[in-house]
Amino acid sequence: MISNDIEKILVSQEAITKRCKELAAQIEADYNAIGEVPIVVGLLKGSVPFMSELMKYFTFPCELEFMKVSSYDGTESIGDVRIDLDMMTSAKNKYILLVEDIVDTGRTLVEVTKMFKNKKAKDVKIVSLLDKPDRRTCDIEADYVGFEVPNEFVVGFGLDYNQKYRNLPYIGVLKPEIYE
Ligand code: 5GP
Repeated sequence: MISNDIEKILVSQEAITKRCKELAAQIEADYNAIGEVPIVVGLLKGSVPFMSELMKYFTFPCELEFMKVSSYDGTESIGDVRIDLDMMTSAKNKYILLVEDIVDTGRTLVEVTKMFKNKKAKDVKIVSLLDKPDRRTCDIEADYVGFEVPNEFVVGFGLDYNQKYRNLPYIGVLKPEIYE
C-alpha cells in the first residue's frame, strides 16, 4: 500500500477540498468582476487531481486545456523547461488560468507565462495547489495559492516521486528509505 511509504501528512484530503472551494469562489469572483471567462489550462501531469477538484466549484462554462512541460527528474531540478505537449486551441486574445501543482524554483511558470505572452494571450493568471517560497530562484508568484509548504520534497494529490504516489488523496512526505 502506497500510504505505508508516507512518513507524515502535510495537507489532508479534507483541507484540500475546503481550500479548493475557497479558491474557486475567489477566482470566479475575480473573473466575474472583469466580465471574462478563462480557459483553464492544466499542466500535466501533476495538476490533474487539483484541477478536477477545483473546477467542480466553478459555475461558469469551463473550457479545459492541457499542456505538458518538463523540468524535473527524480528529486532534483534539471536544465531547461521543455514543451512536450501544447494546448490544442489558440490562446490569442484569451484569458488563461494556468493550473499548477507546485511552484518551486518558479522556472516552469516563468517559461510557460512567457510562451502565453508570445501567443498573444490577453491575460495569464496562475493557480497553484502548493507553494514552496524558500526554493524560489525566479521572480514569479502564483496569483492564487492553496497552501504554502516547507522546503521538503512532497508527494500526493498529483505530485509524484518517479511517477508514483500521484494518486494519494493528500500531500505527504515520503519515508527516507524510499529514496535509498
Ligand atoms: P519549478 O519550475 O517551479 O522549479 O518546478 C515546478 C515543478 O517541479 C512542479 O510542477 C513539480 O512537478 C516539480 N516539483 C517541485 N517541487 C516538488 C516537490 O516537492 N515534489 C514533487 N513531487 N514535485 C516537485
